[in-house]
Amino acid sequence: MANLKALNERIVACRKCPRLVKWREEVARVKRKAYKDEEYWGKPVPGFGDPQARVMVVGLAPGAHGSNRTGRQFTGDASGNFLFPALHKAGFANQPRSESRGDGLLLKDMYITASGRCAPPDNKPNPEELNNCQLFLEQELDIIQPKVIVCLGKIAFDRILKILAVRGLTFSHGATYKLPTDQWLLCSYHPSQQNTSTKKLTMEMFDAIWEKARDLST
Ligand code: SF4
Repeated sequence: MANLKALNERIVACRKCPRLVKWREEVARVKRKAYKDEEYWGKPVPGFGDPQARVMVVGLAPGAHGSNRTGRQFTGDASGNFLFPALHKAGFANQPRSESRGDGLLLKDMYITASGRCAPPDNKPNPEELNNCQLFLEQELDIIQPKVIVCLGKIAFDRILKILAVRGLTFSHGATYKLPTDQWLLCSYHPSQQNTSTKKLTMEMFDAIWEKARDLST
């Protein structure tokens, strides 16, 4: 717990990527009209959840008006509105809503983190920024030691392969791999609005991922 707390403090204080620092703070200053009365987080977003989790979820990066606003992964945007009902159904979350850091959401046996911690323009961190941020994900993996790593999207998948020095695996929705570390790697499409509104990712497909994550972790 102490290690995780110290790591999260280092994450929140990080200013290593000039482009992202400028963007996250500019978005937090200008704000979207719908949130004009809110104080945006505007800093790197740390992981959150159960420190004893057997399942670690790795996303892409904060949304400008989602977690860059609320300060918690997948909180306050369309991706979170798709993710948390599924996690609640599967028993990983105590409620289907994720609106703010004070909304009472608790994760059980799950830790949620990301490949990049700062909101990027167009939701696209560049390779140098992802490399800068990689150490934080490495440290989370060391501390949590999950049995199952669920990658939401190919960027998270590639980052995990890079960290674990694994080659030759292919990303596809539902693909499952046993890693040399004896951990399971499970792939899912990212629950972005683009994927869910086009039905590339349906709730049935997503539910099956969390059932599989549960099975692999026990
Ligand atoms: S993306 Fe990561 S490394 Fe870059 S400034 Fe944000 S927290 Fe630091």
